[in-house]
Amino acid sequence: MNCLFCRIASGEIPSTKVYEDDKVLAFRDIDPQAPVHVLIIPKEHYDSVADAPPELVGYMAGVASKIAADEGVAEKGFRLVMNTGEDGGQSVKHLHMHLLGGRSLQWPPG
Ligand code: 5GP
Ligand code: ZN
Repeated sequence: MNCLFCRIASGEIPSTKVYEDDKVLAFRDIDPQAPVHVLIIPKEHYDSVADAPPELVGYMAGVASKIAADEGVAEKGFRLVMNTGEDGGQSVKHLHMHLLGGRSLQWPPG
């Protein structure tokens, strides 16, 4: 298996786990862009949000919101991001949702 996040999902590559269930794994980003920067991935491989079942994407958003509460950023706010494809800045071709929080985030993105 050649996919980095499949290897993280299987435990072959270690990660700092924040949450896990039968469908998804959440772990801390190795290069955090905010005080809270967690990645939520499905255990099953999908290249991106463009080819994943919408129910799964909704489920990931629900998990992300719960993690935001657990991490203490729900009240002040947070951001969920799914970079998709080349122009979207997706560097890992396994669907993932970024949860960013703990500081005031800028808009629009660069
Ligand atoms: P993308 O740029 O594809 O939206 O996001 C990929 C994210 O994965 C980046 O924020 C990057 O820092 C993170 N990342 C890349 N390799 C690893 C790794 O081996 N472990 C962890 N925890 N995060 C990683
Ligand atoms: Zn994968």
